[in-house]
Amino acid sequence: MSAVPLRNNKAAPSAVRTVTVLGATGSIGDSTMDLLRAARERYRVEALTANGNVQALAKLAKEFDARFVAIADPSRLAELKQALAGTRTECGAGESAIIEAAARPADWVMAAVSGAAGLKPALAAVDRGATVALANKECLVCAGDFFMERALKANACILPADSEHNALFQALSSGNREELVRVIITASGGPFRTWAPADIEQATLAQALKHPNWSMGQKITIDSASMMNKGLEVIEASYLFALAPEEIDVLVHPQSIVHGMVEFSDRSVVAQLGAPDMRTPIAHCLGWPDRIKGPAARLDLAKIGQLTFEAPDFERFPALRLAYDALRTGRGATTVFNAANEVAVAAFIAGKIKFGAIARLVEATIEAWIRAGNLAPLSSADDAIAVDHSARNKAASLLPQIALKAS
Ligand code: NDP
Repeated sequence: MSAVPLRNNKAAPSAVRTVTVLGATGSIGDSTMDLLRAARERYRVEALTANGNVQALAKLAKEFDARFVAIADPSRLAELKQALAGTRTECGAGESAIIEAAARPADWVMAAVSGAAGLKPALAAVDRGATVALANKECLVCAGDFFMERALKANACILPADSEHNALFQALSSGNREELVRVIITASGGPFRTWAPADIEQATLAQALKHPNWSMGQKITIDSASMMNKGLEVIEASYLFALAPEEIDVLVHPQSIVHGMVEFSDRSVVAQLGAPDMRTPIAHCLGWPDRIKGPAARLDLAKIGQLTFEAPDFERFPALRLAYDALRTGRGATTVFNAANEVAVAAFIAGKIKFGAIARLVEATIEAWIRAGNLAPLSSADDAIAVDHSARNKAASLLPQIALKAS
């Protein structure tokens, strides 16, 4: 059983839908606001949130006549109030205000705050039974143990916004759970797809940031180069669709046109295709259960000519193996996987470790965590956040020895 609706069985939404965008000033938030802008008559904005970007938030609030806006950084409240003077938009600051924004009665919520800070607000939307378009990976990777259970209990509807999971969501509606054999998530392979191990080990930040197809933020682009992002997506898929690790495969597909596939018992494989543009999966979530007009480029397969596929290389990209292991281990191991990776990526960006050491730090942190007997089921956001913090500390303490170690 999953809170992701596998058939279009929900009542059609009311003519004007109220929406809230958590993380409205980010990359996913920006794409979401773009789609709302193009269909103003169908949506009314209830609440918008940001971390510290007051001016961008106030601009959006004015443009969309939002009822409420929240800024996570409490020291920016006065500035926000000033920027919204003369409007009827209410505002708040701090984590509680972000949670309040999520708890307000919007039909549809985009959960696109980055990092573990996105967990509590997403849960606030889930707990009131909202339809939640989920972009934030941490909700599932750090707290998948209970996030989807809470959604089921509250009768919330989780719509996967990440492109691969949205593709699976679309393909899954072609059959029943009992008919499903496996899902396949595609990966571009990143900039180091064809590189030798020794070159990957020494890759520079500039090289890691050259994603062949997608334009994304720094952290997720580095995760794509190491294939940590694909590992995170395997974990996401497992929790979202209640799948065993053995039911999830990864396939390298350098063109990033096929985003996900589902194999059914009759050996039919149903795929979702589209140009690599996040506005397509977001538009699918925004329109669901209908479809709205999307602004992405139309797919011209004749022009693309060839779609190619390769098996992933678990040796050159150990991140994938680590993700499957963490998923099988459970009891907080995926939370540790994510936390250690964040510490490792930050250290790589700061020039403290080599690219190849990112996976080594993640592996060492998980091993130390298990050895210390720290594995335990997570049952609340506070549990997940506590594990996230301790795992970060553990990873930071292991960093100097990993930095010194040769591959
Ligand atoms: P960005 O960094 O571009 O935006 C993050 C948003 O969250 C901004 O609005 C930011 O506000 C806000 N924010 C950051 N920290 C906090 C905090 N502590 N409290 C409240 N709000 C905060 O991220 P993306 O849009 O790229 O990604 C959002 C999520 O979606 C991530 O979990 C990512 O992994 C996932 N995702 C992203 C994809 C992409 O293509 N970008 C694809 C698939 C998933 P401010 O602007 O003020 O800093």
